[in-house]
Amino acid sequence: MITLDVTEEVVEEAIANGCELIISHHPLIFKGLKRITGSNEVERCLIKAIQNNIAIYAAHTNLDSITGGVNSMICNKIGLSNCRILAPVKNQLLKLVTFIPEDQVEPVRSALFSAGAGVIGNYDQCSFGASGYGTFRGNEESNPFVGRQGELHTEKEVRFETIVPRHLVPVVISALVAAHPYEEVAYDLIPLENDYAVVGAGMIGELKEPADEIHLLESVRQIFGCQMIRHTALLNRKISRIAVCGGSGSFLISKAIAEGADLFISADLKYHDFFDADKKIVLADIGHYESEQFTKEVLKEIVLKKFPTFALRLSDVKSNPVFYL
Ligand SMILES: [Zn+2]
Repeated sequence: MITLDVTEEVVEEAIANGCELIISHHPLIFKGLKRITGSNEVERCLIKAIQNNIAIYAAHTNLDSITGGVNSMICNKIGLSNCRILAPVKNQLLKLVTFIPEDQVEPVRSALFSAGAGVIGNYDQCSFGASGYGTFRGNEESNPFVGRQGELHTEKEVRFETIVPRHLVPVVISALVAAHPYEEVAYDLIPLENDYAVVGAGMIGELKEPADEIHLLESVRQIFGCQMIRHTALLNRKISRIAVCGGSGSFLISKAIAEGADLFISADLKYHDFFDADKKIVLADIGHYESEQFTKEVLKEIVLKKFPTFALRLSDVKSNPVFYL
């Protein structure tokens, strides 16, 4: 069963439908638990799930921070194009440099690419190679691929460079070591300052046609089924660039302004956050649940792609704890 939140009602729905796994966006356990006595809803959900052999998995921040996650779905629903991450993460990319004998470049390169190295935006298999000479001398324990033990050897090699996201480093290095013919593979992993454009907080995109502020807010209200939208003063100009962040996004207001967004759609904005609009942007708080309700569809797509034979059910429970009078 796929759900935005795990509530008692959701666990009961899972039990009634024979589900063995609940996949939720928001984690059930936000703070550490010292006891499970059933004194609150979180503890009761756990007890019921355990008694009924139901596993609970939560995605949360990882799904918030990827292209194709929560915010991509919001952009799709509004109909934005040219979408990109609003605040990409830094320090997640490394340069991998290795030195490959000239006639062995092809198998090593394809092993690295297959492991996920060399992806930049819409391009994959990105690399650079420069020819030169490598030297080495193996000791009495060595078994060199070329040259002889105890003798200095010079080999025509290619200095091969490519890019690797941090989370793939272990996989890529194993692939390198497996595919490279040398007994000892020389390689450098160099941290980069570059933004990792496909991962980070929020997204920003463009409307196909600029829209009136009030018409746009009205259509956002309909798309997300909001009973109301709290927003800052309208600026009487057309909206063409929109930033979004599902859930609590006030930390991105200045970034949305800096990136030239005309409107920032998010949730959980506090009174003082609204002042930060500073007549430069329209801020719209559409509600936390409302902004993330389509996340169920994102999770469904991911699971169906990986496990096409799984029986999936989207929870029918409207778990929004906020009501409007
Ligand atoms: Zn959330």
